[in-house]
Amino acid sequence: MRIPLAKPEITEEDIKSVEEVLRTSYLSLGPKLIEFENIIKEYTGIKYVVTVNSGTSALHLIIKSLNIKDGDEVITTSFSFIASSNCILFERAKPVFVDIEEESYTINPDLIEEKINEKTKAILAVDVFGQPAYWDKLEKIEKKYNLFLIEDSAEAIGSKYKEKICGTFGDAGIYSFYPNKQITTGEGGAILTNNENIYNLSKSYRNQGRGEGSFWLEHIRIGYNYRLPDLNCALGISQLKRIDKIIEKRKKIFNIYKFYLRDIEEIILPQEREDSTVNWFNYVVRLKDNFTKIQRDALIQFLNENGVESKNYFPPIHLQPFYINLFNYKTGDLPITEKISDRTISIPFFNELTEKEIIYIKGKIKEGLLYIKSL
Ligand SMILES: *Cc1c(COP(=O)(O)O)cnc(C)c1O
Repeated sequence: MRIPLAKPEITEEDIKSVEEVLRTSYLSLGPKLIEFENIIKEYTGIKYVVTVNSGTSALHLIIKSLNIKDGDEVITTSFSFIASSNCILFERAKPVFVDIEEESYTINPDLIEEKINEKTKAILAVDVFGQPAYWDKLEKIEKKYNLFLIEDSAEAIGSKYKEKICGTFGDAGIYSFYPNKQITTGEGGAILTNNENIYNLSKSYRNQGRGEGSFWLEHIRIGYNYRLPDLNCALGISQLKRIDKIIEKRKKIFNIYKFYLRDIEEIILPQEREDSTVNWFNYVVRLKDNFTKIQRDALIQFLNENGVESKNYFPPIHLQPFYINLFNYKTGDLPITEKISDRTISIPFFNELTEKEIIYIKGKIKEGLLYIKSL
């Protein structure tokens, strides 16, 4: 048996939608682009959507549109995928990491204020693994200090915080549609905002700095080619149309895991919170504090060797080699982030994961635990 960590769900309907685009001459900047942006608007209730070719591009264009630049600081989390921090570096601003909160693994709002100074321009929080950050507290801090607030909701399409859908908090938010995310376009992403200025600028930056109504070869500012082709938009439309079913499936798998893993006393399961409903991106178990990073790494290796693909989501960003070189971060700088990230393991989680496979995974986790305790 070989169970992958993630697997996109592609239906016949999805294939047909993409094929239809191939039979037209609109492969980019065509009607599917507009339709995809419109259904994201409908789904989330947001005013403006700009689709782009990746979640990373979406983050970059928000930073750029907010004119965050050299000398500015952005407060963010180290317990995330690298792109949520790299987007700040793209514009030569400085990411300032704040430790996370133990239950949700999201940025700890109570530790933010001590890091704010006159250089601070924004807070960029991540709905990590699908779990919403504490948006009400973050919004209070944003207002009090007159900052921008950015939501990296790459992993949280379909999640809700206090009944409000993730991706719609702060001044702007993003989704990613990479194949391991809850819905996919192959590669792709989207910017969501109620701010007209962010919308207009991102749209222009996405398309080589062209203005609304510019001639094709007239460029009114610097720009990029971050466009999402219509082929990918068609896949996104087809996927987003069944998001409710996708959420249902993932919830069911989450609950099957919860049932089978509940009696393994060495691990802490993903925590469910009263204030949110989560459309889980992945299933992350955490070894209790008495285990070491060496044991965690050995368990990951054991699982991979036994047909259960698993990964160390997430190594802390501040301890990535080039962040250490740039900013001199060292072990111990973010104790909670480091403690958790030394002990977490992402195990297979995708729409078509079966109960039988989950039982197999459980067996391997138990065998692996016996093995790492003997180390
Ligand atoms: C996937 C991801 C991104 C980047 O999205 P891409 O589409 O892969 O560029 C950014 N932030 C987080 C938290 C992610 O998980």
